[in-house]
Amino acid sequence: MSKDLDFGEFSKKRTYVADVFNLEEGKEVELAGWVYDTRALGKIRFLMLRDISGVAQIVAVKGKSDENSFSLMDNISRESVIYVKGEIKNSAQAPGGKEIIPHEMKLISRADELPIDVADYSKTELPKRLDYRFLDLHRKSIQAIFKIQSTMMQAFREFMVSNGAIEAQFPSIIGSSSEGGTELFEANYFGKKAFLSQSCQLYKQMLACSMEKVFTIFTVWRAEKHNTVRHLNEARQFDYEQAFADEFVVMEFLGEVVKYIIKKVLKENKKELEILEVKLKVPKIKYMTFKEAKEIVEKEKAHCGDDDLSTEAEKKLGELFSDTIIFVHDWPIKGKPFYIMPKGEGLSGGFDAIYNGMEISSGGQRVHIPEILEKQLRERNLDPLDFKSYIDSFRYGAPPHAGWGMGLERLTMLILGIQNIREVVLFPRDRERLTP
Ligand code: ATP
Ligand code: MG
Repeated sequence: MSKDLDFGEFSKKRTYVADVFNLEEGKEVELAGWVYDTRALGKIRFLMLRDISGVAQIVAVKGKSDENSFSLMDNISRESVIYVKGEIKNSAQAPGGKEIIPHEMKLISRADELPIDVADYSKTELPKRLDYRFLDLHRKSIQAIFKIQSTMMQAFREFMVSNGAIEAQFPSIIGSSSEGGTELFEANYFGKKAFLSQSCQLYKQMLACSMEKVFTIFTVWRAEKHNTVRHLNEARQFDYEQAFADEFVVMEFLGEVVKYIIKKVLKENKKELEILEVKLKVPKIKYMTFKEAKEIVEKEKAHCGDDDLSTEAEKKLGELFSDTIIFVHDWPIKGKPFYIMPKGEGLSGGFDAIYNGMEISSGGQRVHIPEILEKQLRERNLDPLDFKSYIDSFRYGAPPHAGWGMGLERLTMLILGIQNIREVVLFPRDRERLTP
């Protein structure tokens, strides 16, 4: 193997592949990247070099080009990492109309025999691709998903900050269940029983009661044994909480942030959307009560559910109102957690948002009155004593407040029309998977 590069020098001089196509013939450039493909044609060797920005063709001719480069190109495995110094040449046949004639080439890291057929990834099933996720991530289409996800997180932050919200971090190890109901992963905390957080619900509420508008992108762990294409055991949530607000204020805000995220993806990720063949639209917004949703779903002869929308009902609503965020409010209190405000007549200030046939978010007006919290805990067979510090936090001047949580991966899969949520997590954690 050739001597390593001086990366200090190289990083100052480096040209990214995408920029090659804007440079003049004869210009010398230094590139680095992965061997996407190679081809031999008589005395000519072709090598497609890929970096994060694109793919460019390198061409060497026996007896004419730099000898070292030619022999390296003649004998190099796909996905190996190389450095190339060379000259740009116009070429009608080359993709993008330019190619590189190498003056110097170095092998930086040789790829072993590949466990996946990189010429045709469709030959490999998802579980094996996830076993070799680091190699799967060499692909443009997989990189496109995570470039888009990066834009989504950035857009979320931008929108929140420009609307006066404060970004917060919350503990991930907790002493007792934050919500009850969901199964938790246990941890040993210096001999005491602790849990991985299933949500930052209680903490973001406590914070909103002093800092008014707060948000976070928070990792949650749910020890549910579901094995579906829309659940993970470790997921990320966009969370928002606002003081002096009811559920309608935060629903409107949620609609605005999702629209902002999608507009930003449309603007920043044209290339990635093209690679993924996604025709993305800015969604419409629709409001309906749970009762109305039930009527609509049942009219279509689909099963709805009494306190919660069934998977079938969410799907049906998605079919009836495509590219629409549907806010289903006035939700039966029985179907919502203890911290959601009751409204009387069996209804609550809770809501779900449905988008393209799936729940993307749950939220609502919270209970800031200790007596109501205690009552609702007892009604759900939970012990108020287990929630003492949480309940007490509302005894010293707690304003009414509302908020929501929205799954980052859930939103990503629905925006991109991807069927399995595991595709949109870099390193998914599901019931079977703990590595890589
Ligand atoms: P679902 O009914 O879809 O199982 P949930 O009502 O249990 O979700 P919430 O506690 O309301 O979930 O969480 C808020 C949001 O976080 C959900 O609307 C969804 O977008 C996302 N989410 C919840 N659970 C998961 C999970 N296991 N994997 C991925 N995303 C999740
Ligand atoms: Mg929910």
